[in-house]
Order: sequence, then C-alpha cells, then structure tokens
Amino acid sequence: MPIHIVLPSAPVTKKNSPRVMPMISMKGIKALIAELARATSHKDCVKILMRSISISVQPSENYIEWFDRQYLMRASLHSQLAAAGVRLPIMEPVAIKALIYREALRGDWTGYVDAIGDAIQADVWQCQECKKKTITLANCPHCGASIARMRQARRGLGIIADDKQIVHWDGSRLLKDSQRPRIELTIETLRATPQASLFANEQEEVIA
Ligand SMILES: [Zn+2]
Repeated sequence: MPIHIVLPSAPVTKKNSPRVMPMISMKGIKALIAELARATSHKDCVKILMRSISISVQPSENYIEWFDRQYLMRASLHSQLAAAGVRLPIMEPVAIKALIYREALRGDWTGYVDAIGDAIQADVWQCQECKKKTITLANCPHCGASIARMRQARRGLGIIADDKQIVHWDGSRLLKDSQRPRIELTIETLRATPQASLFANEQEEVIA
C-alpha cells in the first residue's frame, strides 16, 4: 500500500545560491604566496590559483533552513508511519509522486526533486575506526567499534534508506498554493527486480 506524507512548505532547491568555499590548508597558503611572488603575468597567477585551491560547493543556506524545518517533523512522521505498519527506512525500490505546492511560481523541477530525494533519506553514521558507513546507530557492524566511535555523516528524515532507491517520479507536478505551500508525497514500494535487488541486501550497500 502506498504511503502518504505531507511536508510543510515547498522545498528550497539546493542549487539556489550554493555557497562556494575555497579550500586550502595553511601550508598551502604559504606555498601559494611564494609561488605567486615568482609569477610574471596575470595568466600565470590565475593558473597557480586554480591549481592550489579546490572549491567545495555547499548547499544553499536556504536549503539547510528548509531541511531543518522538515527535520522537526521527523518524530511525528515516524510514529504516524509506524502506526500504519510501515517499517522505516524503506529498503526496497520506490516510486514517488510529489505534488509540490509552491508559494509562487519559481524554482526548477530538477532542483525540487533533488531536494526532496535528499531530505527523505536515512541518517548515515560513519565509523571513525574503519571509516565504513551504516544507517543504523549501533556498534560498528563492520569492525565492532563501540557506538561512541560513530559520527553522523548525513541527516535525513529516514523515510527511505537512500535516494538511489527512487525508480521514478511519475505523476509529480509543480503546483502553486500561496496560502499553504507544502509537499504531498505518495511513496509506493516496488517489488525488487534483479536490477534493483542490490537494495535488498545489506543496508550498508545502499549507501554511497
Ligand atoms: Zn568500523
């Protein structure tokens, strides 16, 4: 049976003004200054900069704010679904129909489905000993390290294990409701096909 959930407020796309952060170590900065001092042209300087600095693209602050609001719903969503007999997170392939009621006619389709797919994934914990990841907070299932050695590597609503499970978004629409922006999700669990059966294996294998 498909499950229905309603998330308050339409998503903010992750790409909307993403924060671009230059990443460089202190040692890197010292080497960079020395190299720039030796450069003889503007072109040389640009080349040196491009080589020395890597760029990290973080989701927009608006997205994080939006996600934090959805995260407040997590406990009530989980108890509502548990009462309906749904075991979370769903591990099988899923089909999702998303009715996205926006406050105004803005944003792009891929940005919205990206943001929703991302938000409904499970928390991910990374073991500080073996570096492997799992979606269950417990002693490391790989190396047996204590639960205290697990660090949170991803936060999510925990409806599905990973967005790789999403097979299609058929029936989804970008709509508008300025009075009550929201996302109505209908999630249908599909039978695992041979191609999708990798999702049915160990939970950890689903995680990128
Ligand atoms: Zn481990």
